[in-house]
Amino acid sequence: MQLYINKAEGLKEIKERVSEVFKLYEVILPESREASIFLKPNLNANMNALTGNTTDLRLLAAVIEELKGRGYNNITIGEGTNSGYYRHGISVISRLKVDALAGYHGVKVIDLNYSEPHLVEFEDGVKASVARDVVDADFLINIPKLKTHFEAGMSVCLKNMMGCLIGQENKKKTHKSLARNILHINEYVKPCLHIVDGLIAMEGLGPTRGMPVKTGLIIAGTDPYLIDLTCARVAKFDYKKVVTLRVAEALGRLTQEHHSYVNSLDIKDSEREFAPPTAGFLATFIHSPKRQKYFLAIRNTRLFNYICSTKIAGKILYATGLRQDVFIDDEMHCESLSIDWKKCTRCGKCDKYCPVGIKLPDDLDKKGNGCIHCLYCFMICPEKAIIYKGKLGFVSEQLRQYDEIVRKIA
Ligand code: SF4
Ligand code: SF4
Repeated sequence: MQLYINKAEGLKEIKERVSEVFKLYEVILPESREASIFLKPNLNANMNALTGNTTDLRLLAAVIEELKGRGYNNITIGEGTNSGYYRHGISVISRLKVDALAGYHGVKVIDLNYSEPHLVEFEDGVKASVARDVVDADFLINIPKLKTHFEAGMSVCLKNMMGCLIGQENKKKTHKSLARNILHINEYVKPCLHIVDGLIAMEGLGPTRGMPVKTGLIIAGTDPYLIDLTCARVAKFDYKKVVTLRVAEALGRLTQEHHSYVNSLDIKDSEREFAPPTAGFLATFIHSPKRQKYFLAIRNTRLFNYICSTKIAGKILYATGLRQDVFIDDEMHCESLSIDWKKCTRCGKCDKYCPVGIKLPDDLDKKGNGCIHCLYCFMICPEKAIIYKGKLGFVSEQLRQYDEIVRKIA
């Protein structure tokens, strides 16, 4: 058994760590430089990586650069984002600037919700469509976010593969036996390498209403059970509360050998007790294993879906905690970013956060600097010295919830 675990602070170190990961797993990389390499980040919602929700663009950029540096040029990034965004026709890939990052590096990007279907048999005779692009890839790299999760306990490597299902219809079909189906899809698509983004993780009510926590970790390997168990240890989270690990243990896929390996890791400095994903009374009541099947039966009806798609129902569901996301139609449109030199203390923090490596703060307002408007620098500057010009749109809600905490932890 083998695992890579290390800390990184800033783009330069993230790139160094990613190089170390590829060196360690060099033997499993495809021989042909023409091989199709598929990167599957976690782009669950339109909340950027600094909120703890989605995969950090810096990690994604580091993986792309490493692959390109090794001569691989057939690279695709893909994700089938959260059902609600899909239903509302919101492109999370675009809002998170993953398409802009892909364009910057000249790699492809696709929304798996619109992929060619490949039918897979799941538990209880259920058949659901998985994106053909993932199934057909020569080398699949899973790049999940480390976070606590209300339904799954924690979401890391295993859970992230559910984004390979096409659209809401197929995701829903697998919810009845969620844990077993998560394991099933992992066995089917078999990612070759997993690189976990624990740089800024999420604790509390994940996947989308938790709080960001900076662990600064990158954890990588080829065994998702081993990595997820390690992540549970890092978060001081009872692995039995992670539904996928509990079921994997019952099926004999998570073994005593995994436990012995994880217990032997010298990672005391990285451990930190994550707040549990505790929901409000109503959500907890409905989602209890005894009642969940009735809830799913109602949730899967057309009438319920229609009602839920209305704005008023959305607000009620969010207020009662039954829905974690707010679907805001308003797009963000950034005209420019510039520095207020009276406020800037030249602390150098922004330079560590830019995924495209712009020399900050000096080159922020230089024309043609390659800025992809991810807003990482804008959100982390402790002095609020970065001036945003344009329409914030959906980002306003993120700032309302996370502005202070992100500036504090970053
Ligand atoms: S983070 Fe803010 S204060 Fe620090 S160098 Fe950048 S702009 Fe200046
Ligand atoms: S300059 Fe700021 S907004 Fe632009 S890509 Fe870099 S971190 Fe993102």
